[in-house]
Amino acid sequence: MRHCLYFLDMKIKLKHDVEYIIGRDTQALIRIPGQTISRKHARIISRNGRFLIEDTNSMNGLFVNGKKTLTHVLFDGDHITIGTCYLVYKEFGDATFEEEFDRELTDTLLIEHQMAELLQSVSDKKAHKQLLNLKRTVNKAKTKLHALANRDRLTRLYNRRYLDEELAKELERAKRYKYMLSFLLIDIDHFKQVNDVQGHQMSDRVLTSIASIIRKNTRVNDLVARYGGEEIAVVIPEMKSDMSIKIAEKIRCTIETDMPKCMGLSVTVSIGVGFYSPGEKAEQLITKADKSLYEAKKRGRNMVVIYNRSSS
Ligand code: GH3
Ligand code: MG
Ligand code: MG
Repeated sequence: MRHCLYFLDMKIKLKHDVEYIIGRDTQALIRIPGQTISRKHARIISRNGRFLIEDTNSMNGLFVNGKKTLTHVLFDGDHITIGTCYLVYKEFGDATFEEEFDRELTDTLLIEHQMAELLQSVSDKKAHKQLLNLKRTVNKAKTKLHALANRDRLTRLYNRRYLDEELAKELERAKRYKYMLSFLLIDIDHFKQVNDVQGHQMSDRVLTSIASIIRKNTRVNDLVARYGGEEIAVVIPEMKSDMSIKIAEKIRCTIETDMPKCMGLSVTVSIGVGFYSPGEKAEQLITKADKSLYEAKKRGRNMVVIYNRSSS
């Protein structure tokens, strides 16, 4: 596991045997210039295997996730505010996710800092208000753009990139907090034939309508994503395996009974289910579901198959 701190356009990998002074002092290991930052503003140290941030008598205080604090044990994704500077603490077990995060965050944090500095230096009330409004508009646009970048255009489900990112995080959480997690891989049966007979546009509507049925039969915390062409993945965290099987069966059954009613077509799906074993990587969990899906197709389709090591 790597523990990283992002600030301005920089990133450091935190080490357990180092004391990180954060401030504008030239001797500070994490040096951040600016009027709002004390010479020695805060420090990060390691305690019992976790990293801890402490205010070291700063003028303007230390804020973690928007709350003023004197000491705080850092958790993945924590946002730290020191004067006009934002820092983000991240934990990574997965290298691909870390690379994507690097690209995304290093640009944004620097812009946020420059914007905050500018706001600080503008004394004219009207200009200050205009700048603040501009900052809010940019933030809103950023949130919208982020949401769009994570979605599949046809089904409006999450896309594969987002699934990969979130699954890696979810597996880390499941390992740390020791909860169960299920992965469902759903594939439309004979979809090529649907395309050949009904045409591409109608088949697109079939896919969208199946996506919507799956969404309605899962909880808000479950992650539903378009995995590939006519394959949809569902990540179900914090749920016992027998309940996940019930959900898979409910999805299969609802599609079988509702599709003739809402589309005038008989369409079915096959579902492969894999359960997370502690320490397992995302690819291993996906393979379990994939093998079960293959088994469901082999046994005649329109069924749910649970991964069983001895049968694969
Ligand atoms: P099986 O039951 O074994 O899964 O058979 P299948 O025909 O569904 O599987 P196959 O892999 O042979 O074909 C998948 C088809 O799904 C082929 C492709 O044209 C269609 N497909 C994939 N994505 C889309 C899409 O976005 N829109 C439409 N209309 N069709 C799609
Ligand atoms: Mg397929
Ligand atoms: Mg198919």
